[in-house]
Amino acid sequence: MGMMNASVLSGVRSLARVEQVEIPEIGAEDALIKVVASGICRSDWHLWNGDWAWFDQKLFPTLGHEIGGIVEAVGANVKNIKPGMRVTIPFNLACGSCPYCRKGRQNLCDNQMVPHSLPGSGGWAEYMRAPNADMNCIPLPEGVDEMAAAALGCRFMTAWRAVQSQGAVRGGETVAIFGCGGVGQAAVEIASVLGARVIAVDVDDRKLAKMKELGADAVVNSGGMSGEEAAQKVKAITDGNCGVDLAVDALGIRNTMIGALMSLRKGGRLSQVGLTSQAEQGKVSLPTDLIVVNEWEIRGSLGNPQSGYHDLLAMVARGKLNPTRLVSEEVKLSDVSRVLDDMDNFRTNGYVIITDFT
Ligand SMILES: [Zn+2]
Ligand SMILES: [Zn+2]
Repeated sequence: MGMMNASVLSGVRSLARVEQVEIPEIGAEDALIKVVASGICRSDWHLWNGDWAWFDQKLFPTLGHEIGGIVEAVGANVKNIKPGMRVTIPFNLACGSCPYCRKGRQNLCDNQMVPHSLPGSGGWAEYMRAPNADMNCIPLPEGVDEMAAAALGCRFMTAWRAVQSQGAVRGGETVAIFGCGGVGQAAVEIASVLGARVIAVDVDDRKLAKMKELGADAVVNSGGMSGEEAAQKVKAITDGNCGVDLAVDALGIRNTMIGALMSLRKGGRLSQVGLTSQAEQGKVSLPTDLIVVNEWEIRGSLGNPQSGYHDLLAMVARGKLNPTRLVSEEVKLSDVSRVLDDMDNFRTNGYVIITDFT
């Protein structure tokens, strides 16, 4: 089929080299996507670090799962997706026929796959294979370009589910967002647009200043504080010091999870979207008695099901949400290693998107 450029990793924390590899072949249910914009995500960085082995995640040679592209070709059995369509591909690839897919919860699909785990389906390449294209290619409406699609491809759509769907935010509520990385920034914008009063919490004043631009009503710098102390700070700026209706842990370390939980008012909801890192390895101990006596709810939130894209894309198309605003840098495929190194020190501030595949 010819050759293409792809970013190839040889192992944990290896250099990412641009190599010539074969353009992926597609099966009868698949589509071949010409990648136009492709994000470099904190979860790519986790995989590159060898994190998440505790729940069976592995590093693959070509990562990339935040994708805006154009359908180049489709397999013989694909019905609704056509060449020339502009699409995004959720990282939670789904089968379309298991009980969860049938209920519209494709993010919990029994046969779930992530793009980079399939040969030829990593997004850090000129082309990628989208399996089961009728389910997993989501056409972009007018007003949502490929850049916006890559920008919302993981962190933004994840934040949408954490705040709007699992978080069930209502206008007039108070929401605290712990951790202002990619998911947290999007969560601030989304909660604000949906009518909540938003408190953003992070250890970096530069990120907190950006949160104010994105709609945060108040910010808390939790540098040097325990989770419990950060929660007290947040509660002190809520009505009657009684806490927030919804807290989102957008990072997944002990301090942000405890901080988010303990900042809740009685009956409040924690939307847990951050996954843990090496320090926690999947486990944070929780104040069980407080969960009982305060009737706190803890809701996990994973990606965004294919069924959850319509409303999100409509908000973007109408200009109510603007994921592209969170793009801080456009880079080349050959910049991937440098960006991963920057992420070691949390130096990236916003979404870094590959738009030049050389
Ligand atoms: Zn991601
Ligand atoms: Zn399924």
